[in-house]
Parts: sequence; C-alpha cells; structure tokens
Amino acid sequence: MPRFPHRAAFSFDIEDWHHSEINKVGEVHASESIVERGTNAILDLLAKHGWRSTFFVLGDVVREHPELIRRMVREGHELACHGMSHRPVWRATPETFRAELREFRTTVEGVLGDFPVTGFRAPTFSIDRSNAWALDVLADEGYRYDSSIFPMKVKMYGTPGAPVGLYRPSRADLRKHDPAGRLVEFPVAIAEVMGVRFPVGGGFYLRALPLPLFRAGLDFILQHRPFVLYLHPREVTPESRRMPLDPVNGFITYVNLDTVIAKLEHLFQRYEWTTMRDILNDEGWLR
Ligand SMILES: [Zn+2]
Repeated sequence: MPRFPHRAAFSFDIEDWHHSEINKVGEVHASESIVERGTNAILDLLAKHGWRSTFFVLGDVVREHPELIRRMVREGHELACHGMSHRPVWRATPETFRAELREFRTTVEGVLGDFPVTGFRAPTFSIDRSNAWALDVLADEGYRYDSSIFPMKVKMYGTPGAPVGLYRPSRADLRKHDPAGRLVEFPVAIAEVMGVRFPVGGGFYLRALPLPLFRAGLDFILQHRPFVLYLHPREVTPESRRMPLDPVNGFITYVNLDTVIAKLEHLFQRYEWTTMRDILNDEGWLR
C-alpha cells in the first residue's frame, strides 16, 4: 500500500429504487427492495477489510429497516442524514426543511435512542446558490458538516466555482470560504488537473473509468487533501433485476456494474479509509 499524507472516506447513500430520482421507463414496485441486500453487502465488505465509513441514510430507510441501522452503528460506522424521503432541498422551504430534519432525528431516536448525527448530504446534491439558507437550518439543527455542494456543473446539479477541498461556506456566497462559517463543507471527490475539474467521486465514475485512470485521479487528490467517494446499495448488487430505464439512464446506472466489488476490493487495499467525521476531526475542522 503506497503511503499518502491523508486518509480517504467512502460514503454510501442508503436509499431504495423507489426513492431514486432516475426516470423509470416502466413501473417500479416498492416491493423490489434493494436496500437491505445492497447495504448488507457493503457492510460485509467493510468488515472484511476492517474499515469504517459514513452512511447517509434516508429517514424512510431508518424506519423500514431498523436492523440494518443497528448493524451499521454496532460495527462502528457513522450514521448521517440524507433527508427523509429523497425530496430535493430545492423543493423545500426553510420551514419544511427544518421539519424534515426534526422528523429524521425523531425517527433515529425511535431506533437508537439519543444518537448524535452531525453530517448531511442532500438528495441529488440539491444545495446550491439558490437555497443557501439550508446551511443555516442545518447548523441550527445541530449539524456540523455538509456534503451537498457539488463544485462543478453537471446535468442535474452543481455549483461551479465552489472549492473542491474542505471549507466553510460563506452565508453570503457559498462558493467562498468564511472562517466564521457555521458548517464545514466536505464536497465529493473532484480531481482538478491544470484548472480542469473531473468528477471522480461517484459510483458512475468508479464503474465507467478504467481502474488505473480512476486510481491515478485518487492518488493525485490524496497527495493534497482527503477525499470522499459515494456509492449506492443498488450499485453493489449486480444480480438484481434491471429496472426499465431509457438508454442514457440505463448506461449511467448499469455500465460495468459487475466490476464494482472487484474495484472496491482493490481500493480498500490501496488506501486508508475512515469516516468523514474522523477525517474532519483529524484535519482539525471540527474544533
Ligand atoms: Zn440519494
């Protein structure tokens, strides 16, 4: 294993097929649940390698699969919030967003008792310059860090010009660092090479890019700063029935799905992994 000056974080957005924003061509039945099998496969793999990671879980999943959440926490992973039902924050008001965070807290308490949750990732990376008020609501509700600002423009979301590393978003302009900012932002991994940004954080890139290229991007980032990747339960269960999607979404969703486990095994051997909260503590951002 090469030595790097920073540790890496793997994060998992724990949602089911029926929560996804992907447009289905056919009908998806709520009964076709992937979340339990996929999450257990992820937990098994992490246990095998002895790593801990961060799980952004939907409140609906906490309610529907309490055993899964208990296992996660028992095995030392970080439980973080992905909202209640995968409604993007773009569609919320400060009042409904606050109510949703409180419902999440109550739901978690119903399973785990009083339990600290300090990290948030919005469904579909839906915090940007149009709804920066969401950062205030998160801080008011006890959150310490956010992972919702995607620092480049892609099809559905993005905030071009936002930092690719850790920073405290300014309330006046969330692309700017403000030492007095109330929350720390931990954006998903973007490689920046000679001023050009390449998203490498998501499962799609892990699946679509050849491993040596993907790894080179991560090696490069880790020389300078920690990074966080993200993956969904549906991406680690290649035997599941494929959802009827249009050609573009079908490609994005299913390309190289059968390579994911082998690639994860490799990455789990190559880097030193921990939770996002531990990295923020290590790097002095949560004092
Ligand atoms: Zn999600």
